[in-house]
Amino acid sequence: MKPKFNELTADKVREVIELLSPSADDYLYVYDFAEDLYFISPHARDRFLMPEYAFHDVAANLQKIVYPEDFPKLRNDLNEILTTDRCTHNLTYRLLSAEEKPVWINCRGTIVRDESGRPLYMAGCINEIGKVQKADNMSGLLGASSLKLHLSQYKDGFPEGFLLRIGLDNLKSVNARLGIEYGDLILQKTSEFISECLLPGEKLYRVVGDEFLILDFEGRKTEEGKELYRNVRNKIRDFIMEKNYEVLFTISGGMLDSQSVDEPTYSRVMKYTEYALNEAKRLGKNTCYLYSAEDYQKFLRRRALNLHLRQAINNGFEGFEAYYQPLFSADDHHLIGAEALMRFHCDEFGMVSPGEFIPILEETFLIVPAGRWIMHEALKMCRDVQKYIPDFKISINISHVQILRSSIGREILAAINEYGVNPKCVTIELTESGLLETDTRFTTLWSHLKEAGITLALDDFGTGYSNFHYFTDLQPDIVKIDRSFAAKAATDEFEFEILSLFSKMIHELNLKVCVEGVETAAELEKLCQLPPEYLQGFFLGRPCPKAQFIEQFVESK
Ligand code: C2E
Ligand code: CA
Ligand code: CA
Repeated sequence: MKPKFNELTADKVREVIELLSPSADDYLYVYDFAEDLYFISPHARDRFLMPEYAFHDVAANLQKIVYPEDFPKLRNDLNEILTTDRCTHNLTYRLLSAEEKPVWINCRGTIVRDESGRPLYMAGCINEIGKVQKADNMSGLLGASSLKLHLSQYKDGFPEGFLLRIGLDNLKSVNARLGIEYGDLILQKTSEFISECLLPGEKLYRVVGDEFLILDFEGRKTEEGKELYRNVRNKIRDFIMEKNYEVLFTISGGMLDSQSVDEPTYSRVMKYTEYALNEAKRLGKNTCYLYSAEDYQKFLRRRALNLHLRQAINNGFEGFEAYYQPLFSADDHHLIGAEALMRFHCDEFGMVSPGEFIPILEETFLIVPAGRWIMHEALKMCRDVQKYIPDFKISINISHVQILRSSIGREILAAINEYGVNPKCVTIELTESGLLETDTRFTTLWSHLKEAGITLALDDFGTGYSNFHYFTDLQPDIVKIDRSFAAKAATDEFEFEILSLFSKMIHELNLKVCVEGVETAAELEKLCQLPPEYLQGFFLGRPCPKAQFIEQFVESK
């Protein structure tokens, strides 16, 4: 039976669409065959590459907004409508978004024909099939689009309260170990546990796969939000115990005071809560992090810097520079060598301190290529300076990440060979970590470098664990006393006594002492009483580029 809508004209349908559209996420449309006129919900114009929401010359205009590869399919379907008596249209294809990106949609419609079977118009609905569901049948919760709708009523700012985004820490591994069904059970249980812990007026949404968002616009404080997080965690713990530890899973929470959302929009809420949840995971998971605007600004800077560093490395290390700080003998202050120190600058941030960018390079493992780069620069520099001073020594800092993530030992030996530098003139500086020293990757590297005749220096003594047994176990050639320790010892008699005790013990083991960060004549005088073998510091020479180093410290000799 063909539907008989004859009394309902295309114009009437248009009116209905205009009435319904503001409350719909989907796009309603009517296609008037006689007039060759297409009319779609006005908000489609913001989403898709449409000049207008009502247009003539339908086939030609559709060709402009349908993803080119999919247009033949649509044209065939429309031809069939014109040449057969089919009454429905149901097609999945891609439209171009306003940004000209393909968007998968499903278009359904009903064709209304006159007595003789000629199509009068087609009316129906377009849904974005990639869009988040409104409600989630598995957890029975409302989804992201409902959250969006709910938030849209607060145009002048959110009421007081908090937002808490909860995510499962290890759903993937549960799925992999116990199957997707078990993963679904855990999601469902988590959603139940959260629901059971909610206080009156709090709302719960499932925003993405394994993440939930709780809205409290009831004036409660973030402290109460943390209590909620802890309550959910306790329920999960009881569930795990009940299941005899057959499955272990944890949740992280990202918490936000509703007043710290500076613009009351869905996208801000998603952005800030996503950041807060990620921070909780970065802090080791199974914890709740409270958003702060200051942390967020730091995060944005770190992220931008990360991008600049990556681009610079891909661009042949553009913006990276090697600086060299002279190293002197303590007895007669003659130049022994230099320590290579990395520098980075970019247009957006100018000169960035290694204290800031080295940890980013380490976190992203970019220290592996960057460390390799400076090692080559430093060895090249050493070879060039040796034309003036044949036994000139170069010190290169190596990060723990390079030891764990690359074959740094082999690379050092190959590079030394490549530049024809005597291994005795190369010092590798490593900072104690308190952990790595017992790792075989560390101890193997250490002994290989030692066997090859390379000098090993334990950096930053006095800042970290300062575990004395490292000296006896690892037998470094040089112990570098950090500036923070040395500066204190230069002015405080008690600190000086401790430092000189250390210095004596180091010497008894036949190791050498280097004092770092000597800034004044007074510090120099005091610290020379230790006495150290080597000295480094602004008072004697600041780090500078290679050409300047040669001019200032080498040629002037
Ligand atoms: P570090 O290895 O302890 O290097 C010595 C730091 O002390 C350098 O800071 C140097 O500029 C600074 N310094 C030297 N003399 C003085 C002084 O008299 N007073 C003061 N206040 N500071 C002095 P810089 O260049 O900012 O480097 C900081 C840290 O970044 C380094 O500490 C090192 O841990 C790391 N780093 C720098 N370059 C590299 C590199 O190529 N690879 C690795 N893995 N780490 C590097
Ligand atoms: Ca160093
Ligand atoms: Ca140091």
